Amino acid sequence: MKKNTIPMPDDKGYFGEYGGQIIPPELVVIMDEIKDAYLEISQTQAFQDELNDLYTHYVGRPSPIFYAKRLSEKIGGAKIFLKREDLNHTGAHKINHCLGEALLAKHMGKTKVIAETGAGQHGVALATACALVGLDCEIHMGEVDIAKEHPNVTKMKILGCTLVPVSRGTKTLKDAVDSAFEEYLKDPVNFIYAIGSVVGPHPFPMMVRDFQSIVGKEARQQFLEAQGKLPDVITACVGGGSNAIGLFTAFLDDETVKIVGVEPAGKGLDTPFHAATMSKGSKGALHGFECYNLQDESGEPLPVYSIASGLDYPGVGPQHCLLKDLGRVDYVAVNDDDCVDAFMTLSRVEGIIPALESAHAVAYAMQIADEMTADQSILVNLSGRGDKDAEFIADKLGL
Ligand SMILES: *Cc1c(COP(=O)(O)O)cnc(C)c1O
Repeated sequence: MKKNTIPMPDDKGYFGEYGGQIIPPELVVIMDEIKDAYLEISQTQAFQDELNDLYTHYVGRPSPIFYAKRLSEKIGGAKIFLKREDLNHTGAHKINHCLGEALLAKHMGKTKVIAETGAGQHGVALATACALVGLDCEIHMGEVDIAKEHPNVTKMKILGCTLVPVSRGTKTLKDAVDSAFEEYLKDPVNFIYAIGSVVGPHPFPMMVRDFQSIVGKEARQQFLEAQGKLPDVITACVGGGSNAIGLFTAFLDDETVKIVGVEPAGKGLDTPFHAATMSKGSKGALHGFECYNLQDESGEPLPVYSIASGLDYPGVGPQHCLLKDLGRVDYVAVNDDDCVDAFMTLSRVEGIIPALESAHAVAYAMQIADEMTADQSILVNLSGRGDKDAEFIADKLGL
């Protein structure tokens, strides 16, 4: 294993050859303003205190680590532990960075926070954070997704954000990104585009990572205190990569800890129906940054698919790309069937209904646990709860 000595990121926002700002010069100026404000404000005690207070009293942090005893015994082999991000207010890890972004927007005097949402998870977390700090929030969402994701649409309306239905193109996530971005460009000085993962131009991959790194910081300390040692394997699902990098960051220098990111293999890596960017992608630019991505010969992003809509993104965070090349993190893929099996198993042996996204990481832990010994342990980031997926799974399985 090579030692991780490369700065993450450098002052141009590069993680090795990934990341950067692949955007027009006018926007580089705006992004650099956000970066400078972030670097200045986030160092102040007042900002740290405000954010930590919200993590404690609003989100309910620290989230516990739970030993999944019955699941571990059912499989045999290593002990499986869950970092319970599903217990956060709003039910997933996304609130960690949405609060950070909303506070930063408020401190910078921005008048409106804009974002897109696919399944509505980022939209709900951001609308929540904006309601809390008192900022206008505008969420762009494809009409197809609006029809599919009714509960999240209702929540966003109740939370007081402006929901902009997008009727162009395929009426899904990619069109929502374009629409939100156009709105943002109308007044980038007063508006801020709040990106939902560790993707997009610098400083977002760095900033979102920093806000999410609370997950790994807590987990490392909690695990050491409870078990007297570090886990042998840590794992998390990877869409854009925010919950994964949030867990991984605190463990990167712990050479005894094997780190594994789990991508969606969908209906199989030999079909077009997956979103396994690391396994099947190639280097290129997407949405303002360089990364591995799933693209056609002309560099256009390919349509991607996963049973978990939070994972179907054709790119991946730049730091993950570097960690793959360095060999510090392994990236594997889990298919829909194994994901659904893990979803049902965790529900029935532990009484925890996971998000379909998180179930990918649970499935991977279930695959490797029986090749490990009982004194070894796997820590899974349970990024969110599965309320949003319950109806879909019940229909699918005829329950
Ligand atoms: C959005 C989401 C993900 C995927 O996003 P990352 O940036 O890869 O973490 C994973 N799990 C849940 C519960 C989500 O809502």
